[in-house]
Amino acid sequence: MVLIHDNLILVKSKIAEAALRVHRQAEDVELIAVSKTFPASVIREAVDAGHCLYGENRVQELLGKISDLPSNLRWHLIGHLQSNKIRKILPVVEAIHSVDSLDLARDINRIAAELGLYPKVYLEVNVAAEVTKHGFTVAQLEADLDDLLMLERLKIQGFMCVPPISAESESSRKYFVFLRDVRDKMSQRAGVPFTGLSMGMSGDYTVAVEEGATIVRVGSAIFGGR
Ligand SMILES: *Cc1c(COP(=O)(O)O)cnc(C)c1O
Repeated sequence: MVLIHDNLILVKSKIAEAALRVHRQAEDVELIAVSKTFPASVIREAVDAGHCLYGENRVQELLGKISDLPSNLRWHLIGHLQSNKIRKILPVVEAIHSVDSLDLARDINRIAAELGLYPKVYLEVNVAAEVTKHGFTVAQLEADLDDLLMLERLKIQGFMCVPPISAESESSRKYFVFLRDVRDKMSQRAGVPFTGLSMGMSGDYTVAVEEGATIVRVGSAIFGGR
């Protein structure tokens, strides 16, 4: 109980310090507590510590927990979304961080219209062009941008990435810089400023904040190892 509370305080203070180092405001960085694999009883400890924003990577798991927890929590889907689960997830999440294709974006747009919703989304970019990872390549993003912008139900916040796994936080820096450049380039092309940068996990969130993350997704540094 004490542990999760302390972990949250530590992570938040590291975010604030990282922001300060690059003359940003700590309030400009949101913290998603990634609660995947942990039961509602454990999440409740973070809730009791005052934290309200949670992330899950699987639809079924998220839906299962949501009903066991206070209704004022905010939930973000951060993992790959299959089209057949859109209808279930849209009404309960505030944002989807893992929009990884034009087809998926179109499906979300269509179902959001049916449900009368305007979901916030991030476009996932495969920053290291890994064959095992989801996400737009930059070339695909450039090709699809105009079509994505026409999806009137989607509130495109910006971009998201999961860099290659590394024990060294510094090795993520170039990917975070890359994603920020993608965001700036796409903003210019679109003529609308995308502000969101969803990047940084337990191993590298301070580096992500230094490079402009507006929302970090931190799991094990808060809840412990999985
Ligand atoms: C699990 C997960 C995280 C959090 O990972 P930690 O290393 O535990 O902080 C962040 N983003 C995504 C997409 C994840 O699947």
